[in-house]
Amino acid sequence: MDTHRHLEKDVPKNREVLPMDSSVFNPYHNPNEVRKFNIQRSQLLIDDEVELGSGNFGCVKKGTLKTDSGQYDVAIKVLKSDNEKLVQEEMMREAEIMHQLSNPFIVRMLGLCKAESLMLVMEMASAGPLNKFLSNNKDTVTVEDIVNLMHQVSMGMKYLEEKNFVHRDLAARNVLLVDQQYAKISDFGLSKALGADDNYYKARTAGKWPLKWYAPECINFHKFSSKSDVWSFGITMWEAFSYGGKPYKKMKGPEVIRFIDSGNRMECPPACPERMYAVMKECWTYKHEDRPDFKKVSESMQSYHYSISNKAKLEGAAAAAEPI
Ligand code: ADP
Ligand code: MG
Repeated sequence: MDTHRHLEKDVPKNREVLPMDSSVFNPYHNPNEVRKFNIQRSQLLIDDEVELGSGNFGCVKKGTLKTDSGQYDVAIKVLKSDNEKLVQEEMMREAEIMHQLSNPFIVRMLGLCKAESLMLVMEMASAGPLNKFLSNNKDTVTVEDIVNLMHQVSMGMKYLEEKNFVHRDLAARNVLLVDQQYAKISDFGLSKALGADDNYYKARTAGKWPLKWYAPECINFHKFSSKSDVWSFGITMWEAFSYGGKPYKKMKGPEVIRFIDSGNRMECPPACPERMYAVMKECWTYKHEDRPDFKKVSESMQSYHYSISNKAKLEGAAAAAEPI
């Protein structure tokens, strides 16, 4: 796979490739330019050949969005036309959440299009889900790449925490890659905006939940907060450093709950640096009161990420200075 296809700017030779080198890295773009909530059907070109993903709701297709300021590669979540009102409302809620978010490490929603079916138009993250990318590219993705990507995910999550949104489905399958150096959080289908005075969301009934990614308070009391997203971040890190491995092997949901309640935690993946495993274990602190928040987690990720990229640079400089 050509992971550099988005690179348009020249990258200086003495440093690694960064998200801002990508042509789609645009943290300060004019929100009025492309973020029109309602998209006309005539502005959309849907590629019927390429299906990026599918689910109960329908499927995600590749396409192009035409605007006054240019053409954009987009991913389009298309609802099956026979879907009932409830599913449509779910997608409208997902769109409303995404509309309020603007961060380089979160997939941007460009708008909704109501035509032959309801369509959610998003910016394209063409390298796909993190778990699949890592298991397909084990030989070329380095541990440093994974540290970089997970640092970016922690920054995106810190932004969500500051805005008082809970994601509720953070997992490697929902982190999409623009390329090997650039990650974005996606899938806001279960997300909630918290009230100004609330720091958690209480689900009335348990649904089809990703139990292996959920903190004890989610399972026991249906309480969801940024702290429970931190637990899921720990599982996502484990998946990433296992190159897309499945957490808790073949264990079923109830077994995992017993395993955690007895004080057990997953082991350090073979390729994972000790300091990254230490962060994971902090994310899996049983009591949410004692668990770090994303401000803290992103600081830990940043300090480790910077320490290894400086080390690489120093070693590179030393090797270059060596007499032949
Ligand atoms: P679901 O709620 O069914 O999990 P997702 O939003 O996670 O829906 O999308 C399903 C799949 O569609 C993803 O796993 C991914 O492969 C693809 N997909 C979704 N959004 C994008 C995007 N913005 N860019 C590229 N692929 C996407
Ligand atoms: Mg998903």
